[in-house]
Amino acid sequence: MSQPVLVLNSGSSSVKYRLVQPDTGESLVDGVVERVVDYRAALQQVFDAVSSVGVSTDDVMAVGHRVVHGGRQFYRPTLIDDALVAKLDELAPLAPLHNPPAVLGITEARALLPNVPHVAVFDTAFFHNLPAAAAEYAIDRDVAAQWHIRRYGFHGTSHQYVSEQAAQFLGLPLESVNQIVLHLGNGASASAIAGGRPIDTSMGMTPMEGLVMGTRSGNIDPGIIMYLSRTAGMSIEDIDVLLNRRSGVSGLGGATDFRELHKRMNEGDAAAQLAYDVYIHRLRKYIGGYLALLGGADVITFTAGVGENDAAVRRDALAGLLALGIELDEERNLSPNRGPRRISTDTSPVSVLVIPTNEELAIARACVDLCKVA
Ligand code: AMP
Repeated sequence: MSQPVLVLNSGSSSVKYRLVQPDTGESLVDGVVERVVDYRAALQQVFDAVSSVGVSTDDVMAVGHRVVHGGRQFYRPTLIDDALVAKLDELAPLAPLHNPPAVLGITEARALLPNVPHVAVFDTAFFHNLPAAAAEYAIDRDVAAQWHIRRYGFHGTSHQYVSEQAAQFLGLPLESVNQIVLHLGNGASASAIAGGRPIDTSMGMTPMEGLVMGTRSGNIDPGIIMYLSRTAGMSIEDIDVLLNRRSGVSGLGGATDFRELHKRMNEGDAAAQLAYDVYIHRLRKYIGGYLALLGGADVITFTAGVGENDAAVRRDALAGLLALGIELDEERNLSPNRGPRRISTDTSPVSVLVIPTNEELAIARACVDLCKVA
């Protein structure tokens, strides 16, 4: 059996970690260090957790770091050296909320574990080759080129992992399957994947585009931003906070967590109901759009916290689509089963699946592949 891989996701105020056995997918220990101010102290806590399950940090095969934005340049899992850290620093403006903490986490982890290979795995990687028609925004091309404005897409590790698992579940070669993957967590994104290759995804230049999320607005008319600036006198920072943290189902309905949202809806809370309705409406628009782009799908897969757990969201996202070949099996959809499963009827031309995502395992396996070659 190979050595375990430590996967780190260093965010703005937390460090998520998981020690993964890449062969079996077994998680040896995982957790979150919250309210991080000092990344070195946070990582020390992570290493203590690793030691507590009898694994010496010297025996870790690699440390895999999730990095949100790889820009145009980085899309393969990459062995981290000083030059890469410097380049990641340069990408900070593209993902100001996400990349700087990742760089801090990487820097401290390398200082603490200098003899273990550190690998960066990019959340944008899977979408690196989006067709130009999907990747480009219709704005002045010179401005776009100068400022690297294009659609990068995010949650790529999850979309790739889940689409591979979906093909495997169906017993079909990945190359032969047209898929829609709906990653519905606190952040949410959809992708259309033809034969293993993404042809569109809902997140864009930043993770703010697309679906309604827990606290992010997803798509809005960009004119709103100018209006808020000129007429409401809001600063760009205020608008950033508004659209990233005070919007989505939380901004509309007062709750980020879908369990709480449903509770309020059941109590007759009109704001919660509206938030849910707007969320479902947007989701259905993307599903319809992607069915058109793909010329029909073989499989639609739900994943992440909401997608894996919320049967009502799955039902409402796909209700009334028999004409498009989509028929859910109500009982299967409501089953408390946690593993990969089919929730469409046996006769539904489009298979609908629920597949738990596992970004940490995907990152761990990417580290193994890279270390094998290196
Ligand atoms: P993620 O970002 O993938 O960890 O997803 C987190 C979100 O999943 C939470 O904010 C909840 O909205 C949602 N979630 C988690 N568990 C459940 C559940 N049992 N039912 C409905 N939603 C859930």
